[in-house]
Amino acid sequence: MARLIARGGTAAADLDAARSLEFLSRIVDLLSTSAERRALLDAALDASLVPLGLSKGAVFLRKGATDALEVGAARGFPVARGGAAAAPGVLEAGMGLANVAIRRKGAFAIPDLSREAHAKELHGACLSAGLTVSSAALVPVAVGPRALGAILVVSEPPRDFTASERGFLKLVGALLGWTLVGQGALRDVEARNEELKTLARALDQRTAELKELDQYKTRSIHLITHEMRKPLTPIFTYADMLLGLDFPPEKQRHFLEQIRSAADEMNQYVSEMIETAKLEEGGIQMLFEDADVVAAAEGAVGRWRKEAQTAGVTLEAHSDLVRRVYTTDGVKIGEILENLIENGIKYTPESGKVSVNLRKNGPDLEMSVKDTGIGIAPEDLPGLFQKFNIIKKAAVPRPTHRAGLGLYLARVYAEALGGSIGVTSELGKGSTFTVRIPVGT
Ligand code: ADP
Repeated sequence: MARLIARGGTAAADLDAARSLEFLSRIVDLLSTSAERRALLDAALDASLVPLGLSKGAVFLRKGATDALEVGAARGFPVARGGAAAAPGVLEAGMGLANVAIRRKGAFAIPDLSREAHAKELHGACLSAGLTVSSAALVPVAVGPRALGAILVVSEPPRDFTASERGFLKLVGALLGWTLVGQGALRDVEARNEELKTLARALDQRTAELKELDQYKTRSIHLITHEMRKPLTPIFTYADMLLGLDFPPEKQRHFLEQIRSAADEMNQYVSEMIETAKLEEGGIQMLFEDADVVAAAEGAVGRWRKEAQTAGVTLEAHSDLVRRVYTTDGVKIGEILENLIENGIKYTPESGKVSVNLRKNGPDLEMSVKDTGIGIAPEDLPGLFQKFNIIKKAAVPRPTHRAGLGLYLARVYAEALGGSIGVTSELGKGSTFTVRIPVGT
């Protein structure tokens, strides 16, 4: 940063109008280009000293919002190694005088430090620091009634600070005050800007999330309507056939069975939707009681035995449990297993196998449903337990009901029981879904 050098480098006895203006304009340049606070204070101190041909002085500033002062800049006082002022007494005594300037709200000169009562401390401190100083001038650093600190300049030879010199110092004090306030305001504005930017970023993210949610809802509605209409096709077709032509009784029975099975599928779909809606509205009610978990698993297997047979898939269950009864919700355990077994059968081609296994792993009841089915690609695993997640590209072995809710419900139930659900899978080889429910030892 450019420093202020007095022309000729000599002490100016007094400042004439033209030189004052020249200095002032250079001070304004210096203050407005000193972005850093330290550099700004140094520039202000130089601006106070150099035009008056002085070399010793200090700027004192208020610490935050308190009345206490601290040294902002100092020149001409010997400095010890490490930057600590060698004459702390001098600066402390200077602080006392700075407080007087702040209280008086005006510039004042002390032509003879040894004789002025409130300057004796500074004089003594200078003497004991080996400095000969005779006179001093002080000016508040202020913006209107708001005092931010004060500037002290001292002179070795005795000196009367003239009215124009005091006026000049006052201007420097005011300029420094305005610049400090301006910089503070600028910092505030920058901080606000940063806050606004952060808010804007958060808002952008929220908007993106909402957009995604909206798209997800649209996708879900498409999917739901599509899935709901699927079973309607056989219902209409067989009903029309029955209405239109006379079929032999066994044909009629077959058509009615097809209608019934399509209606069942629709019913299952609607039940899953209702279950999901209930979950979202009111959470899940769990009924913890002494539950025979083996019986719950056998019940689940039993309910899917017929479908497994129809699909040509072997369904078997095995338990390694020594104890069968635990305090948990047996009905929900049955529902979790049913969802997994249903999937196992759905996604396993003919002559494959679905096996359910129960065992104890530490404090957990561990239930796994393993199939030799189509498997899941690694990139499809994240989000598998999210609502309406259907792997469209999956090579589903046979036409089937798909709503993308089974795994979601299984996860929500497992979590409500304090447990978790996970999967390991290999595309084309099969999958193993494992549910862990803490039941104690
Ligand atoms: P749904 O089976 O009704 O579509 P789920 O939530 O039960 O819904 O399953 C989500 C998706 O995960 C299924 O659409 C399917 O692509 C895949 N998936 C689930 N279980 C298996 C499995 N055992 N083997 C292969 N893919 C599976």
